[in-house]
Amino acid sequence: MTLPDEKSAREALIAIMRRLDASGLNRGTSGNASIRVEGGMLVTPSGVPPAAMEPASMVFVDAGGAPAQDGLRPSSEFRMHHHILRARPEAQAVVHCHSRYATILSCCGRSIEPIHYMVLVARAAGIKVAPYATFGTAELAEAVVETMAGAYACLMANHGQVALGRTWQEALAIAEEVEEQAAITYGALALGGGNLLSAGQLADTVAQFRFYGQGAT
Ligand SMILES: [Zn+2]
Repeated sequence: MTLPDEKSAREALIAIMRRLDASGLNRGTSGNASIRVEGGMLVTPSGVPPAAMEPASMVFVDAGGAPAQDGLRPSSEFRMHHHILRARPEAQAVVHCHSRYATILSCCGRSIEPIHYMVLVARAAGIKVAPYATFGTAELAEAVVETMAGAYACLMANHGQVALGRTWQEALAIAEEVEEQAAITYGALALGGGNLLSAGQLADTVAQFRFYGQGAT
């Protein structure tokens, strides 16, 4: 994996947080994001609204999980970002937010079942809910890593959602699609529940994705 230089990673983190804000996936200072860089990761700071973030606001966390002491405090979820990037070498970025529909489902312990084929952007036939643990704890970080297994996203019980990507753009796009799938699930549940796609239909969809867009996936 080619790692981004620190300058572009710092700017990308601002872009992620402002996009989450603009698209309504996040409000205030609750979401956070990280990008893998040489020797560790950069993570958004704690309690700073996206409009006030600057490249220098981002906090370096080393490969052992220790945040730099000479700047702002890191996001309270820096342990979760560190655990995910450590467990998933293919991931370059992690995006966490309290988007409304994903959070509603997470508060009800409802996973996202495969009723719409786009659920497959999370690279699994559904999006699971990680067990509840207090925000910011290593316990939550471990629960999320375990629940995600090989998937690119999960919900977090009574909390929100988290997504990863091989690029920061992919992590952001998956977080956006998780919210869309959560909204579809919410609506389907209101109508009595959606019709599940079969394993065969999902396998056909995976094959068809190879021919979608302008390049092989
Ligand atoms: Zn959170």
